[in-house]
Parts: sequence; C-alpha cells; structure tokens
Amino acid sequence: MAETDAAPGAQHFIPPQADTLDALRAAAAGCRGCELYRDASQTVFGRGDESARVVLIGEQPGDMEDQKGLPFVGPAGRLLRRAVDDAGIDPKHIYLTNAVKHFRFELRGKRRIHQTPDRVHITACRPWLVAEFSRLRPDLVVVLGATAAKALLGPTFRVTKQRGELLPWPAAAQRPEDFVRVPVDSAGKVADAPAAQLLATIHPSAVLRADDQDAAYAGLVQDLTVGARALAG
Ligand code: SF4
Repeated sequence: MAETDAAPGAQHFIPPQADTLDALRAAAAGCRGCELYRDASQTVFGRGDESARVVLIGEQPGDMEDQKGLPFVGPAGRLLRRAVDDAGIDPKHIYLTNAVKHFRFELRGKRRIHQTPDRVHITACRPWLVAEFSRLRPDLVVVLGATAAKALLGPTFRVTKQRGELLPWPAAAQRPEDFVRVPVDSAGKVADAPAAQLLATIHPSAVLRADDQDAAYAGLVQDLTVGARALAG
C-alpha cells in the first residue's frame, strides 16, 4: 500500500444537507478522502443512537469490522462490551465509532495485518468524527488508545499519563470550537453543546496483546468505572 504525505480529506465528501447520522453514514460510504478506501472493503461508520449518553472512540476498524461494515464486532469489540458492562455502563446508551473509518493493513500472504494509521489518515478522517459529534450530545466521551486520543485531543496528549482522569468536554478537545455547537432541529438551529466529560483509556486490543491480560482488563474496567460514576453523579 502506498504511503502518502497528504490527502484531500473527508470534508469534501460530507454533504451540507446530511443532518442525521444515517445520512452521514450513507455519505461516508463514498468517501475518498485518503487512500485507505482503495484496499479496504468498505467504510465502517459509527454505530448507535443519536441519543447515546456515552460515545466511545477507537482507532480504526479491524479485519472483521471491515468485512461486516460495523465497528467493534471483532475480538476487541467483544472485550470492550464486556468491560463496559462490568463498569456499570448500560450498553444501550453507547455510540461506538473510530477515528479512522477504513481498515489500514498490510498483506502477509493471505493475512491482512493491522497497520496503525498515520497522522495523514487521522487528519483526513477527522471531519467525519466532527460530523458525528454534530449529531450527538453525549454526557461522556471515552477515547480508546493513542490514535483516537491524537484525533480528538491532539498529538501531545498521552493516554499512559492521563488515563482514567475526567476532563471537560469539549474544552479538552483539540480545536474545541469544532464541537461546541450542536443542532437543535433539522432546520439548522444550533445551540451550545451541553457540558460533558471526557475520559481516555487504553484500546481493548491492548488488553488482548498484554502479557498480563487480567491486569490490563482490570485497568480498562477501572477507567470506565470512573466514567460510569460520572454518569451516575
Ligand atoms: S479513512 Fe476516512 S478519510 Fe480516508 S477514505 Fe476512509 S472515510 Fe475517507
């Protein structure tokens, strides 16, 4: 797969009249904002309801997500759902998405091996994340791993240092102005986004790769429990 230093970005593919998540999802299916669409099977857009109280953001779809067209349906997704449940967050209230919406991989024989997206892919795909947030009013935003943290919070944020810490949303975002206004109705009326909180933690795939999976899983649940308490409070 060819490396690129620049990409046109997703903005050009977001129709101004797309004012629902379904309309955004349909438009994202045709995105050519970076080269990742060429080798992946399909765009994997976010999944969940506009009324979701918790938005969880991962890195990119994996092999199974790419085949099914849905985020977090592979092994890491199953682990994440269990962790969300163990933390006391109602799975009915979550919206799941990724910072980058096409699967980046390299072929080794017949196997497709995950490759971390580059900055150019994160930047190119960010308009979709901003567009999703334009339809969402979460009480809690959970960033899963370094790639999602870079996409939302900027390149200097360190998940290892700040995981499990509640931060103000959208004030903690890189370019918070992208997230401060949300639509009130389909006629285009907007209002200030309700104050919410943000929490960073590890990506569930990091638990699957850990030498001590039990300890890594416990850490993930512990971080998510901080968020669950914030929701309850
Ligand atoms: S990764 Fe994002 S910006 Fe790149 S083609 Fe896919 S949807 Fe568009």
